[in-house]
Amino acid sequence: ALAVPDKSVDSVCPYCGVGCQLTYHVKDNRIEYVEGRDGPANSGRLCVKGRYGFDYAHHPQRLTRPLIRRADAPKRADMAMNPEDVLSVFREASWEEALALAAGKLKTIRDQHGGRALAGFGSAKGSNEEAYLFQKLVRTGFASNNVDHCTRLCHASSVAALLEGIGSGAVSNPVRDIEQADVAIIIGANPTVNHPVAATWMKNAAAAGTRLIVLDPRRSELAAIAHRHLQFKPDTDVALLNAMMHVIVEEGLVDEGFIADRTSGFEALKANVAAYSPEKMAPICGIDADTIRYVARLYASAKSAMILWGMGVSQHVHGTDNARCLIALALMTGQIGRPGTGLHPLRGQNNVQGASDAGLIPMMYPDYQRVDNPEAKARFESLWGMALDDRPGLTVVEVMKAIKAGEVKGMYIMGENPAMSDPDANHARESLAALEHLVVQDIFLTETAYLADVVLPASAFAEKTGTFTNTDRLVQLGRQAIDPPGDARQDLWIIQQMANGLGLDWRYGDVAEVFDEMRRSMPSIGGITWERLQREDAVTYPCMQEGDPGAPVVFTDSFPTATGRARFVPADIIPAAERPDADYPLVLITGRQLEHWHTGSMTRRAGVLDALEPDPVALVHPLDLADLGVAPGGVITIASRRGEVSLYARADDSSPPGAVFVPFCYYEAAANRLTNDALDPFGKIPEFKYCAVRITPG
Ligand code: SF4
Repeated sequence: ALAVPDKSVDSVCPYCGVGCQLTYHVKDNRIEYVEGRDGPANSGRLCVKGRYGFDYAHHPQRLTRPLIRRADAPKRADMAMNPEDVLSVFREASWEEALALAAGKLKTIRDQHGGRALAGFGSAKGSNEEAYLFQKLVRTGFASNNVDHCTRLCHASSVAALLEGIGSGAVSNPVRDIEQADVAIIIGANPTVNHPVAATWMKNAAAAGTRLIVLDPRRSELAAIAHRHLQFKPDTDVALLNAMMHVIVEEGLVDEGFIADRTSGFEALKANVAAYSPEKMAPICGIDADTIRYVARLYASAKSAMILWGMGVSQHVHGTDNARCLIALALMTGQIGRPGTGLHPLRGQNNVQGASDAGLIPMMYPDYQRVDNPEAKARFESLWGMALDDRPGLTVVEVMKAIKAGEVKGMYIMGENPAMSDPDANHARESLAALEHLVVQDIFLTETAYLADVVLPASAFAEKTGTFTNTDRLVQLGRQAIDPPGDARQDLWIIQQMANGLGLDWRYGDVAEVFDEMRRSMPSIGGITWERLQREDAVTYPCMQEGDPGAPVVFTDSFPTATGRARFVPADIIPAAERPDADYPLVLITGRQLEHWHTGSMTRRAGVLDALEPDPVALVHPLDLADLGVAPGGVITIASRRGEVSLYARADDSSPPGAVFVPFCYYEAAANRLTNDALDPFGKIPEFKYCAVRITPG
């Protein structure tokens, strides 16, 4: 039976970008249960992760003391981790000793080799204030811009295309605008698994008459209720989308007034799509020409039509091109700037939007002000009182390569787990193991922390207060409900100690003081006060002046570009970096399961979620399983040119034969040992959604 709580604390869910509001019910510093709250994104609803995924905070493997690597414990990338046996690799230390070593060695590397020999990864699981302070620490304490986080692995290509095309990397309309759309294209996304509460609004909209057009090589649950599901061949997004635009131009379905008044570059786009007739593209993308024509007409002719997309679009070497096509579709038809229209890249992690806004990216200060823009640099030098480097820093995958090249020698990683989340994870682990000095701040001994020199025990979501920005640009207040265990500390405190150990002099009194400094450097949230957040719990940006209501729908009369106009950028077909061949004949697609989150460090330690999905699985088409002679539930080994994993085969016909889907949350069968680290040249995002593999029984 549940204990009667002695307090109830309103907060938000720690997992996905939907940003459901919830209430923690607490007894004796333990969360007893969670209830959904009437927030703008969820209206009381929660999915299984939000409702049952809280007890990881009380897991016996929580880190409760700072750890220092034992002198006789080698860093071996291939060494199996045993979180039950932490003390064979590390010894416990006081905060004073751990911080002196953690910051002191980073400072020595900086002084000997310069700031670009250091890099920092922050986290989209942390608050806006943590993200802001972390990037400020790297830029001022390390003296470089080598700071990044997992946005590089999810929507960096979408953001690159959006900034280039319409001047803003965030969504134009909230998810729930789909209820006002006549037509909605959902492409490369599986919302019932990855954005479950948002998916309920999509289902409601479909039931009320919104025609859903699902474009996806996999048959998702939403595809089953869609007006049309176009199951195009993996890796052929540009062929399909250019063919749709070809139809819209050819049949005169463009919005000429919108194009003339609010855009530039249409003639080049028009000339480019002329070569992409549906008849020519049909054999490439696997969708017949009549169907391509039908959905193109439907989208262009709708009174209001919206596009939502996920990582099936972004995680390709042509991810930026994919997003450019989606932007062009909306612009040429004038389907943006009104309720029920627009562009919505569905954000993955709970605060990936906010962490990016706060400057946790190597080429931009907070609010996407470029580090190589002299005016922006001067503004931040004045605010932070230090000279800054104007060279854009290295991205996530580039950092791993720079370690191998001997250019990056020390790292500070807060709440990220690149040993599991980076592509070609064997290579990433070798890089992490090769660092002269690695400091990891986390709540568990993750696969990354296992390779650290110093591990700093941090706070779980419910153990701190901060703001988090959801996929709809909604800045929401998460409140502390419980205290961290043992000697674990709140992340804001740890970042400040590290900053001071690097020679800075930071004296932030509390989280509100950090938020106030953010407001002064970020015009988009300049009007949001801490008091208002405490009162209202959630405010949408842009909110430039105090009292502004916030703007859920943007670009109503202009775009935030230098000219006020949006820009068409043509795209041509670029194949995946690694195609199937005789040795590796199948295509690997990686992604998430409903029950598990990211690299599994939290959800695999949440009792209910782990019980629902306890073992590593691969979803394999029944015909492929039959060819292999493997029964459903049997063990298979999947190998790529970079590594191999063994896991259970689950028969699943939602992907076409020849494509296998593997969730990336299982450390014992880490999917990213297989993936390719080829990058999109613009967003620098790796190609998680396509590489060549082979499967053998056993
Ligand atoms: Fe949490 Fe996302 Fe589920 Fe909402 S939909 S409860 S934010 S995981």
